[in-house]
Amino acid sequence: MVDRRVTSPAQQCAIEQAETWGAHNYQPLPVVIAGGEGAWLTDLDGNRYLDLLSAYSAVNFGHCHPALTRAAVEQLHRVTITSRAVYSAGYGPFVQALAELCGKEMALPMNTGVEAVETAIKLSRKWGYETKGVAEDRANIVVMDGNFHGRTTTVISFSNDETARRGYGPFTPGFRSVPFGDLAAVAEAIDPDTVAVLVEPIQGEAGVVVPPAEFLPGVRELCSEHGVLLIADEIQSGLGRTGTTFACEHSGVVPDLYLLGKALGGGILPVSAVVGDRAVLGLLQPGQHGSTFGANPLACAVGLAAVELLRTGELQRRSAELGAVLHERLTGLVGNGVTAVRGKGLWAGVDIDPALATARTICYRLLDRRVIAKDTHERTIRLAPPLVITREELEGALDALEASLA
Ligand SMILES: *Cc1c(COP(=O)(O)O)cnc(C)c1O
Repeated sequence: MVDRRVTSPAQQCAIEQAETWGAHNYQPLPVVIAGGEGAWLTDLDGNRYLDLLSAYSAVNFGHCHPALTRAAVEQLHRVTITSRAVYSAGYGPFVQALAELCGKEMALPMNTGVEAVETAIKLSRKWGYETKGVAEDRANIVVMDGNFHGRTTTVISFSNDETARRGYGPFTPGFRSVPFGDLAAVAEAIDPDTVAVLVEPIQGEAGVVVPPAEFLPGVRELCSEHGVLLIADEIQSGLGRTGTTFACEHSGVVPDLYLLGKALGGGILPVSAVVGDRAVLGLLQPGQHGSTFGANPLACAVGLAAVELLRTGELQRRSAELGAVLHERLTGLVGNGVTAVRGKGLWAGVDIDPALATARTICYRLLDRRVIAKDTHERTIRLAPPLVITREELEGALDALEASLA
């Protein structure tokens, strides 16, 4: 439902067409985007907005980053889709660079994030049966309350979000959910048939929820002790978002499997991957898993360019430095329309005082001030600007937030 009119007839018309002919599985902000560059988006009427959402971190490198666009355009003129029935020239360089970025031995590229999650579930079950010696069909995976790992039938089977689940059963068994951040609950949930613990190092959709400092190291220890794979879903938290390449680095934790997506596609196309060591990824034999579009030449070219942008560490440094500015200013708003702020680097969950307004109302006010941000749940605004945002742009966006709270 369109719950607020825009003034421009052109945009109103485009929104009506979208709502008439497109399924209503989202509730978009009432703005129609026609262009983007760096941290900026442009609507149909030529108005410019600062993007504080970055397509949920798919656009960490900014819109139409020149190096990424160049890699894509050059590849478009060579070859774009081959399937894995043959080798493509860009595949080897991409998987090597990606595995090296993660400090791992192998990578398995897919397309969307949820496919990486599904791949990791299959891999850890297979590892459980073939390596750990779990009896057939007995494997279980420990997951966290409040998780978001995507939208397939299996993945919503272990979500606690009733809106995401209702009407979609029967669900896939083999998962047990424990409170996020509760180490004792993880310890209790692990039994001899547990093959993996699947965790977002920082829960994005839940409202940028950071677990207690001892949680991830504790989970790592439990996993090592009990022969359980630690799977870090870094699809949203990874690739520079939190000021380090991976959010796990903040707690000195190295997972067995990294799940990557979103920014891995450079903001250009869906590219995801599972990255880990030979002991797990090496179990896959021909025909046991795959995807027609996974690791296509265009994806490999863009994915490699994205990995190369992260190699120098400059974007991670920017994220850490500007993140400090972001969090300092947001913390200053606590008590002035904001009840709590969470996050790391250029990533923040901002809880709006319900006595003031809903998060969505604040997002509308931000839109009026030419800033795009998105609410999650009733009272939280998630801020995740492109990592290429300048300090001036960031300060401008924060001025707009401050004014929207007044
Ligand atoms: C977005 C997201 C996914 C799913 O990615 P899609 O590309 O939408 O399938 C999985 N895990 C996390 C943490 C995410 O943020």
